[in-house]
Amino acid sequence: MKVLATRRLPGLAWEDLDDVEVAPLDRLTEPRPDVDVLVVANELVGERELELLPRLRLIANYGVGYDQVDTAAAARRSAAVTNTPGVLDAATADLAFALILAARRRVVDGDRSVRAGRWVHGWSQPAALAPGEVTGATLGIVGLGRIGSALARRARGFEMRILYTKRTRLDDEGDLEWRELDDLLRESDVVSVHVPLTRESDALIDARRLALLRDGATLVNTARGELIDEPALVRELVSGRIDAGLDVFVNEPHVPRDLRGLPNVVLTPHIGSATVSARHAMTRLVVDNVLALGRGDPLPTPVAAD
Ligand code: NAP
Repeated sequence: MKVLATRRLPGLAWEDLDDVEVAPLDRLTEPRPDVDVLVVANELVGERELELLPRLRLIANYGVGYDQVDTAAAARRSAAVTNTPGVLDAATADLAFALILAARRRVVDGDRSVRAGRWVHGWSQPAALAPGEVTGATLGIVGLGRIGSALARRARGFEMRILYTKRTRLDDEGDLEWRELDDLLRESDVVSVHVPLTRESDALIDARRLALLRDGATLVNTARGELIDEPALVRELVSGRIDAGLDVFVNEPHVPRDLRGLPNVVLTPHIGSATVSARHAMTRLVVDNVLALGRGDPLPTPVAAD
């Protein structure tokens, strides 16, 4: 089993693979008929890559979101695709909650003002007051899957009222309240997005929907930048009408210039799953998929073709 990986993955599990070549995909310019498995971490895999890897049987994605892999093209060539679901839920939900707290309480702006020597009174000026509470606020979760559900568990500790939207409503909703997306946006103080990027969900929160957000609402996105109309989001943030915490962007690592100086947005560099234990567990899943393929066993975490 010849494995081509775009990077060495962290953790001991990586040592279980015995024939790995590490090279970035832009070095793949000549056909490589010897490669069975391609390990990627957010790099685009489409017709070009598949054509150069004619023997490929598996694309193992290091991450749960696999929107950058052309699953239909892979299926046409009988190459399976796997991802790393579940093991990064806690890390990503923790980051979403960190962004909720940081944006809502202006933690980063406060830090900046201290470092810049702008702290002049024992108490901050009224202008720097945080726009709203977290405890007791209404949280709208867009996409109540693995990570969205982990966020709901955290929100209960903050006594939040929890609204959710997804295409199929839960049988047992407990204390959660289902809403159509538009109503969820109108009624929430805080909105957190956890939907996978697909053709259907691209620009799910467009300019019209952004305008539905309450004045002073906080929008958090740890899913994918493309789920929100980015220029419209920038306009809303520049106007100061809403706050945001953003871990993902349309054209990473590019972040719209207008966002960088704003006090009402917290920006992080796609670090949702970036804890040692989550990243090591993700490596374990990637390696387990590769080893299962080698043994001819069912793959632990296959994804369906688009
Ligand atoms: P998941 O378990 O598949 O949950 C996705 C949820 O979204 C489900 O509740 C699904 O329910 C709902 N959904 C799907 N399409 C929808 C649509 N068009 N409208 C409304 N709801 C929709 O996924 P997950 O493991 O929680 O991961 C979510 C995403 O987070 C990943 O795809 C990835 O892009 C992102 N992520 C980012 C980071 C990071 O580093 N920032 C880390 C991990 C994951 P229905 O099918 O019933 O609609």
